[in-house]
Amino acid sequence: MKIRKNVIGFVGLTLLVAAFTVGLSCYLAPAAQRDLSRSPLASERAGAPSQNNPDKLRIIAFGAHPDDCEIRAGGVAAMWAAQGHKVKFVSTTNGDIGHWKMAGGPLAQRRTKEVQQAAKILGIETQVLDNHDGELMPTLENRRTIVRLIREWKADIVMAHRPNDYHPDHRYTGVLVQDAAFMVICPFFCPDVPHLKTNPVFLYFPDRFQKPNPFEPDIVVAIDDVVDKKLNALVELESQFVEGCVSGNESMIPKNEDERAAAHRRVRDRFRRRFEVTDNKYRAKLTELYGEKKAKSVKYAEAFEVCEYGRRPSAAELKKLFPFFKN
Ligand SMILES: [Zn+2]
Repeated sequence: MKIRKNVIGFVGLTLLVAAFTVGLSCYLAPAAQRDLSRSPLASERAGAPSQNNPDKLRIIAFGAHPDDCEIRAGGVAAMWAAQGHKVKFVSTTNGDIGHWKMAGGPLAQRRTKEVQQAAKILGIETQVLDNHDGELMPTLENRRTIVRLIREWKADIVMAHRPNDYHPDHRYTGVLVQDAAFMVICPFFCPDVPHLKTNPVFLYFPDRFQKPNPFEPDIVVAIDDVVDKKLNALVELESQFVEGCVSGNESMIPKNEDERAAAHRRVRDRFRRRFEVTDNKYRAKLTELYGEKKAKSVKYAEAFEVCEYGRRPSAAELKKLFPFFKN
């Protein structure tokens, strides 16, 4: 009788341990999945910066409107393109309310042509998604669109706005791209487009907003060699920078080529000042990346912050992704 009791006790204890083990592994599984986006994949351990050809990078940037990527990343895009890397700018809305006089389809078409001209100058590709300006929402359908675009481009680097920004389209573009930062490597999310084997590095564009936390530059690139090319691209966006976007008036529309040339000069001067390195944090980062001597001579720059989602590159990998830091 006593032996039988012991046997029952032993079986009961075994079942209890087994149940606990199963329960524990169920508890741990989602945690392991969550960690996947941050854990080093095979290609990361090898230090390979590219999804495919290690010598050719693929970069995709998402801006809310047909001018956001050009302003924030036009310089570095031209530099990558000049080295044979592939860059694509995507506007997540068609910009169809971004003017004081015209709107709707004609404005969307005009702004698409403007960024196509800018892309030609920069040596990159561009795409404008047909969402209404001012109405972008972080929907599941839009998340799918962003994931497919990142996968189709086989991106090594993805850029976008931070999700705290004055403009709702900027904010939701930031959210949509953040939401894609894990989904792009999930085989069963949008299985119609093959998932990426390596999670890209996600980067934020700079902005001036301080709450809840200010933009922190992780990478600052000198764009002195291409600043004129970038300005050439920006003056193509006449609806925005010559005619005054939503705050313009009739007097800003050039009446002849002389007036147009004068307007272009003003736009160039304004942007040239904007791209000047005035921030001490930028200067410190330039010194770290280029060395003191070269950093002192840098006049114009673009800066980016590494997003906490997606792959977290080491300092050495960042230099491979931005192959511009020859001291
Ligand atoms: Zn914008």
